[in-house]
Amino acid sequence: MHKNLLKLLFPSLCYGCNELLLNNEKIICSSCIHHLPYTHHHLLEQNDTLNKFYGIVDLEFAYSMLYFHKEGIVQNLIHQLKYKGKQEIGTFLGLNYAPSLQHLKEKYQIDEIIPVPLHPKRLKERNYNQVETFCISLSNELSIPYNNALLFRNEYSKTQTKKNKIERQTNSKNLFEVRNSTESNGKHFLLIDDVITTGATIEACTKALLKIPNAKVSVITLAYTQS
Ligand SMILES: [Zn+2]
Repeated sequence: MHKNLLKLLFPSLCYGCNELLLNNEKIICSSCIHHLPYTHHHLLEQNDTLNKFYGIVDLEFAYSMLYFHKEGIVQNLIHQLKYKGKQEIGTFLGLNYAPSLQHLKEKYQIDEIIPVPLHPKRLKERNYNQVETFCISLSNELSIPYNNALLFRNEYSKTQTKKNKIERQTNSKNLFEVRNSTESNGKHFLLIDDVITTGATIEACTKALLKIPNAKVSVITLAYTQS
């Protein structure tokens, strides 16, 4: 079938606002691109994302790319990426953000990009980790290796779910673990998550990564939301 006819029958919609995309537009329309709420964290020594971890875990730097507002463009993008299989959104956002991160190579020696792992059961249902394409996109653009085989999320057994809240909180400290080899010693890891709210997940992941001797951790999230 002719490409234009296909487009007429199955028009592409913007993942940000649901409006029809023009011929030269892909994934997100020009208006949504223009209105993406960037945090500009990469230009600031102190920022909201980094401040969340002050006195809790030591991070080299922490940025969020965008602000998350309810019913806004970013919420739509993340919803489509996370629940509708639109993994191309992650690639697009990585390509869009990478130019702002070129300074990282000179300023920090980052060795590996690490995704916050999904719960194994969730991964089975969804078949993909929603941050993977964003990670791979950044990995390609910044020439930093992507490693999704280092950090793991433990699966809870039924007996653990039944335990009381305090016991579960103690357990949650071991929610994430690293499959470490001496090769990882002394590396600087860039941990990637989708939306940061309380920061509890990133805190737990960072603590797991910092068990590696002389490791350093930095964080980038797609979006920042007030908790
Ligand atoms: Zn749009």
